[in-house]
Amino acid sequence: MEREAEVGAVSDVERLRVIGAYRGTEAGPSLICVGSIHGNEPSGANALERVMATLADRKPAIRGEVVGLTGNIRAISKRVRFLAKDLNRHWTPERVAQMSRGELPDNPDAEDHEQFELQTALNDAFSRARGQVYFLDLHTTSAKSGPFLVIGDTLRNRRFAMSIPAPIILGLEERLGGTLPEYANSLGHITIGFEAGQHDDPRSVDIHEAGIWLGMISSGIIDESDVPEAEAYRALMRKASEGVPRVLELCHHHRIKQSDGFVMEPQIPNFEMIQAGQRLAGDKNGDVLAPVKGRLLLPLYQGQGNDGYFLARGINPMWLTVSSWFRRMRLDRIVHWLPGVRRRPADPNTVEIDDHIARWFVVQIFHLLGFRQRSHREGQWVFSRRKHDD
Ligand SMILES: [Zn+2]
Repeated sequence: MEREAEVGAVSDVERLRVIGAYRGTEAGPSLICVGSIHGNEPSGANALERVMATLADRKPAIRGEVVGLTGNIRAISKRVRFLAKDLNRHWTPERVAQMSRGELPDNPDAEDHEQFELQTALNDAFSRARGQVYFLDLHTTSAKSGPFLVIGDTLRNRRFAMSIPAPIILGLEERLGGTLPEYANSLGHITIGFEAGQHDDPRSVDIHEAGIWLGMISSGIIDESDVPEAEAYRALMRKASEGVPRVLELCHHHRIKQSDGFVMEPQIPNFEMIQAGQRLAGDKNGDVLAPVKGRLLLPLYQGQGNDGYFLARGINPMWLTVSSWFRRMRLDRIVHWLPGVRRRPADPNTVEIDDHIARWFVVQIFHLLGFRQRSHREGQWVFSRRKHDD
């Protein structure tokens, strides 16, 4: 079938699940990329089209394989984030297992079919891998934005993210349950959620394209000498990230329900510095004020979604070094010696923390040691040690 890909015109072409797969004769890592899992974010799939076209044209020698998949084809055709539910929030172990058995849920909706098809394509790509699997989940934002990388904070994910010159956000992925990168992480793959910029900004496609090539270089799939644009790609990403710290940690999450009537103040870009007490939005109860100072992330400027906005703070990269020492020393094995901390008997990787006893910097300390926050309610934090850390 004749297919034409144009920037911003993603819904005018018929999207295929597999945009392309380029496989080297030599074994090596796989870089598996999913673009446009949110249907109103054409940039990811468009960038993958470009990368696959360049690979087909130049035919460089690579090790391993590069695979580009389309996320939510049905939502793309309607230019909406999703049709029935967010395709990037339902990759839970139970649903993945059900679909692996070839079963769809009862009365399947559009996203149940999408997940089934995408999971089948992903599992094909995972099972063909002849080395470490790297995974990029390509997104854009409703607000004006430079690029940023969202990772589950393992040492392996960090190393991969540090090879792409864009701000890294820690602590955000644990607020979003059931994401595709979380599923890929659970399989032992190295993953990044890669936000390139505003949904319809042509620069977002350039940045996604640049990041995919840089990911191919740093994973060892292609030699840098075979990517003549490599330095230009780094320069593009540095310029688009100017003035933003290299590493940031989430410090606030404003969740919303549709019934809140949440309306964000217009046109605040990502990474704008926000003061405590600044009005950020309005809802049925009146003004929504920032509770702390921080840089704004992912303000909601589209009808769909349950996250109003996030705030993040720059952290000194020295803490990353400290934290890798702590993890190599396996200090996580003795955290239950701390007051108020107890290991779950049935699951030694999970700790429960009484927040009446352990009051200070609980989240920061457990993040440093390689734990992921699972819940915080009724005076108790629950953290689990991340798997596949190093
Ligand atoms: Zn998205």
